[in-house]
Amino acid sequence: MNKETPETILVVDDTESNLDMILAILKDYDVIASTSGEDALATVREEPVDLVLLDILMPGTDGFEVCRRLKASPETRDIPIIFITAKNDEETIEAAYDLGGTDYVTKPFRPKELLARVKVQLNLQRVIRELDFLATRDSLTGIYNRRKFFEIAEQMYAGASDDLYALMVDIDHFKQVNDRHGHHAGDKTLKTITATIAGLLPEDALFGRMGGEEFAVLLKGTDRLKAAEVASLLRRKVAETLIDIGEVSPISCTISSGIAGKQEDIVSLDHLLRQADMALYMAKKGGRNKSIFRDT
Ligand code: GH3
Ligand code: MG
Ligand code: MG
Repeated sequence: MNKETPETILVVDDTESNLDMILAILKDYDVIASTSGEDALATVREEPVDLVLLDILMPGTDGFEVCRRLKASPETRDIPIIFITAKNDEETIEAAYDLGGTDYVTKPFRPKELLARVKVQLNLQRVIRELDFLATRDSLTGIYNRRKFFEIAEQMYAGASDDLYALMVDIDHFKQVNDRHGHHAGDKTLKTITATIAGLLPEDALFGRMGGEEFAVLLKGTDRLKAAEVASLLRRKVAETLIDIGEVSPISCTISSGIAGKQEDIVSLDHLLRQADMALYMAKKGGRNKSIFRDT
């Protein structure tokens, strides 16, 4: 996340004076104040929130119920929650942690302590985000690694009808780039070509590095013609892309791709990708710099 952007903290308390006090303490953050549980839940559904400071005793939906609902939804379950409450008996504190609360501060609180606890949670969130990025991205190109690609692809496959298309993309004669210009130039080529492809794909397409100089794309909500158009666009634009490898003249590369659609005879994601891979093989055999549909 951009360091310039302050994190967004949602503060939920039914007493206005409490809200005012907390807002003053959190003046360096982007704070959304909420005076009811229902209002807080609606806010979290609409805006990205990095941390919730949550009162427990509130009329209507109380803090425990807000916590329960946030933890029940995959979109909001990872948002840390700090309870801020006048209740300080052991049972309540235990229940707060059992429900998934991250921290617990009793009223009246000490401003500097509250701020310190907020900072701890926000830092932890940042580290988690960074680790998540490292675990899911290919370190050279920054696009999804194989494992994350398959994780998301399985969900896309499960939710798709026959409007899902897979492209297997492979750089042509890539070994020659390494052999002629060195491994560093090869790396630069991989980075440039993935950036070119990523910039051309529809927003909801999935793009990952399968390994080496081979990539996979999943396109949803599309048809045979549009999938072919995407493959053809990638092929033309990659061929036109000049890659600066620090030598006198830039180089360029072509790609080949195999395309397959989730038709009735496709039984799994692996099957779909294998079919696209077979079509890729045909494109290579047919002379490269081509995109070919699997035989139906
Ligand atoms: P084809 O057109 O048949 O695909 O030929 P090719 O040369 O592209 O394919 P081949 O599989 O023979 O060679 C792929 C090369 O990609 C071999 C390997 O050293 C290189 N390679 C794989 N990963 C990387 C990488 O991360 N960086 C660099 N620089 N090279 C890589
Ligand atoms: Mg290749
Ligand atoms: Mg290859």
